Amino acid sequence: MRFWSPSPPAYTLRGGHVVLDPLTGHNITAPLHLRARVLASAPRQTRTIDLAGAVVLPALINAHDHLELNHYPRTTFAARYDDAHQWGRDVSARLTQAPYTALRQHPLNDQVLIGGIKNLLCGALTVIHHNPPHKALFNASFPVRVLRRYGWVHSFGFSTPQQIANSYQRTPQDHTWFIHLAEGTNATAAREYQQLQALGCISGRTVLIHAVGISPDNIVHAARVPLRAVVTCPSTNRYLLDAHMPYTTWQQHAPHLPVWLGSDSRLTADGDLLDELRALPADVLHPTLLWGAFDGVGLAGGHLREGAPADLVVIRLQSADTNATQMLATIHRAQIALVMRGGIPQIGDPDLMHQFADVPTVAARLDGVPKRIHRVLATALARSSLQEQGLLIGEHAI
Ligand SMILES: [Zn+2]
Repeated sequence: MRFWSPSPPAYTLRGGHVVLDPLTGHNITAPLHLRARVLASAPRQTRTIDLAGAVVLPALINAHDHLELNHYPRTTFAARYDDAHQWGRDVSARLTQAPYTALRQHPLNDQVLIGGIKNLLCGALTVIHHNPPHKALFNASFPVRVLRRYGWVHSFGFSTPQQIANSYQRTPQDHTWFIHLAEGTNATAAREYQQLQALGCISGRTVLIHAVGISPDNIVHAARVPLRAVVTCPSTNRYLLDAHMPYTTWQQHAPHLPVWLGSDSRLTADGDLLDELRALPADVLHPTLLWGAFDGVGLAGGHLREGAPADLVVIRLQSADTNATQMLATIHRAQIALVMRGGIPQIGDPDLMHQFADVPTVAARLDGVPKRIHRVLATALARSSLQEQGLLIGEHAI
């Protein structure tokens, strides 16, 4: 069974404000026509959905997650760490204790399903996964799209310099390469950029994740290269390090270097991508955080112009405020009125979901808010040994 179909029926979403392209600020009030992709005009047969003034946005991209780690509790063993390697060693030493032993025994497919559902529910329908490219992530039934063309290595804490260099060199030239770097506030973290440079791993295809402890000189260098991007995961940085990426220094020295937003996994994060957005200072909110990575890693998406995947979220904010990023920074996942992937509604408010008369849905409750969820998604969760926190389905939801 699929969460999406290559040839869904055509829909025309009417009566909404459509943020066509958050990166350019292009908005329209015209109807949006779509099947699996956005259409230029209404096909002969289309079903009309009344949005009653709600706002339509392209779905988001989560630039950093570990999809198999989202059923774990948020975990730390110290008030704060000087670098994430210390935290990593603390966690590794306890993996054979409760509750980790039991949590590790769930089938991998169930583990990654929770990661996928977490992202779908907050409208992040494309995810950049950091860890091996598990087969299940690329099944048609997986709840979100996952970047396929990537190279990755963990970090200087968990990989040898030789492993890091090998990973970079093995990654095809047209793939983006990801590493956790400078995740700390001490000298160890501050040294890592230069170590990476010495290994020959700094280039236009390099993406640094966290970069909390990077020096201003290294930021200047990163801007000059320029790197592909840096990814910030603010709630994780606050939780482990009581620190955050030096946004002001980045803005000052590398104003054109994209900063993408990642949720990291629930092992360290506060929740989902919307929670991360709210954790950022208001003056750094920029659409590149939520939509810039599509183009950055060579994926279609991040806009709703003709031909784009019909991946979108609908939000009931009766405001003409066209700043999509600031709008999203004010809401939680249960306030998303509709999530559509590939032109198929996945979850939404009952009144909206009922308008898609041909879509089989099941009653649900997300963080206490009544919803309808696509039956295929409900079935996948019913079969799983793990459940998504805050999501009740079927009779449990009533
Ligand atoms: Zn990570």
